[in-house]
Amino acid sequence: MQKEKELEHALKKIASSAPDFDLDLASCNKANPEDFFPDRNNPSWDRALSYCRKCPVQLECLVWAFTNKVSEGIWGGKTEEERKKMTPSQRGAVRKKLNAQRR
Ligand code: SF4
Repeated sequence: MQKEKELEHALKKIASSAPDFDLDLASCNKANPEDFFPDRNNPSWDRALSYCRKCPVQLECLVWAFTNKVSEGIWGGKTEEERKKMTPSQRGAVRKKLNAQRR
């Protein structure tokens, strides 16, 4: 039930602030969304992270997630905890890397 609420909350967040990157390029565009919202009591992130590792829009996804304060699920190759622990300086470094990639 908790997982369903988290998934619903995340989907509402996505609907209200659509990602500004091309979702057609996302490695996960045909993946099972539930893999990205693992059970808190038995988290298994391996499958989701395997998609993220090869994703061409990983940086865009990560920046979108922390810019829009998406707290649930795996985005941009980071778990919820990893995103929460990112300092402003680390987030700035990711934005800078993304900007450099876009040039
Ligand atoms: S980084 Fe991960 S969650 Fe984000 S679009 Fe790519 S595969 Fe999906």
